[in-house]
Amino acid sequence: MTAWDSVAAHREGVPVLMPGHVWLAGAGPGDPGLLTLDALSGLQQAGVIVHDALVDHRVLALASKTARLEFAGKRGGKPSAIQADISERLIALAREGCRVLRLKGGDPFVFGRGGEEALALAAANIPFRVIPGVTAGLAALAAASIPATLRGINRAVIFAAGHGADEDFDWAPLARTGQPIVLYMVMHHLERIAAALMAAGLTPQTPAAIIASTATPQQRIVISTLERLSDDAREQKCEPPAIVVIGEIVKVREQLLAAAACVLPQQ
Ligand code: SAH
Repeated sequence: MTAWDSVAAHREGVPVLMPGHVWLAGAGPGDPGLLTLDALSGLQQAGVIVHDALVDHRVLALASKTARLEFAGKRGGKPSAIQADISERLIALAREGCRVLRLKGGDPFVFGRGGEEALALAAANIPFRVIPGVTAGLAALAAASIPATLRGINRAVIFAAGHGADEDFDWAPLARTGQPIVLYMVMHHLERIAAALMAAGLTPQTPAAIIASTATPQQRIVISTLERLSDDAREQKCEPPAIVVIGEIVKVREQLLAAAACVLPQQ
């Protein structure tokens, strides 16, 4: 019996994935340890799993042996499946009577376009369930020993997308809050966004960190400052997917690592 079987055997009220239904689930950032039990039960019940490129192969390995895996999503540098086509595919599979798991990296609704899929399913009268996932931003902070909030330091956390935020996006109000900013999809826009945040009043020495490929064996953590971010990313060869966090909260890492023996490394 594996650890999974043992957990599942003790769980009551496991939701049933019915034929013709879709579960829109988060797979977490990588390590299967960050899956929810509902996502795991979806992996075991689904007949078809439609996944994006951020879903780790170790998570897909937990699918039922009879499940069919379909890739749909962005694959670095290559043409992306069009969102409307993905939604149509989910609807078609459900109408064929499949048990469909739509599996997305992290959380389906955090910059994952899961909201559009949910709207399309609702419009097509397809019964669906949303299963949240551990979003990369929070997993990356935890992996870097940076608490997302700490009494006395911050009372809000900002999640923002670097890519897609068009040139007109005004970063100044975010900077003025003084709260930590956790950036997704930002690696190709670091210089511009860091400059905008400094122009809005954040000091060049504001602590910052880049956490790449969190919850995978390739995880990298680079500690930096706002003014050094894009140089450090380039010099340290940080590749997407990566999370960038900017704010005083990054300094708490030093305190936690000073007690290094207590902080166990994550996978
Ligand atoms: N729905 C996902 C985010 C999709 S947007 C979630 O909730 O995590 C894609 C961005 O997510 C990437 O550009 C990167 O910024 C971040 N990301 C996803 N997986 C990651 C990982 N394992 N490590 C670091 N960043 C990751």
